[in-house]
Amino acid sequence: MKPSQFFNHHPVIEDIQTSIFWSTEDVKWMQEALKLAKQGAEHGEVPVGAILVHGQQVIGQGFNEPIGRHDATAHAEIIALRDACTRLNNYRLPLQTTLYVTLEPCTMCVGALIHARVERLVYAASEPRAGMVGSQMNLPMQPFYNHSIQVNRGLCSEHSSQILKSFFRERRKLAKMKSK
Ligand SMILES: [Zn+2]
Repeated sequence: MKPSQFFNHHPVIEDIQTSIFWSTEDVKWMQEALKLAKQGAEHGEVPVGAILVHGQQVIGQGFNEPIGRHDATAHAEIIALRDACTRLNNYRLPLQTTLYVTLEPCTMCVGALIHARVERLVYAASEPRAGMVGSQMNLPMQPFYNHSIQVNRGLCSEHSSQILKSFFRERRKLAKMKSK
């Protein structure tokens, strides 16, 4: 089902890469998540950004930062969820939140999204190696959870892949220079 069928009160934009119609809101928030991903790259972290939106307002955001935070769990999604709970001073998120993330979530992050009762997940690029929202498994579709998440994938996927590719290219270049 096309996202525009859920969000048809917004004007829609066609994503050239996926030929899916997205709302202008979706495009705007994913672009913000991509900016966060780039911030992560500037910090030497694998560039992944996430934004949690409720009622067209950002309630949490973050970028992948395990190195800087000395925290193996500091993925963009986890940071965005923690940011929201801290800002709201509540472990419960409001209903009808959407998480925009630039890369397909991992096992841990899908679990966290379910615990947090996020209503909708929109991600950009697929993660074929360990993505858990369709690539390796589709965890949100498992019937044993007591919460289900609506998933829309592929928004700005090409842009997100480019950010990741150029980050790894730069990192390889630096590693080569160091080894000389
Ligand atoms: Zn993760």
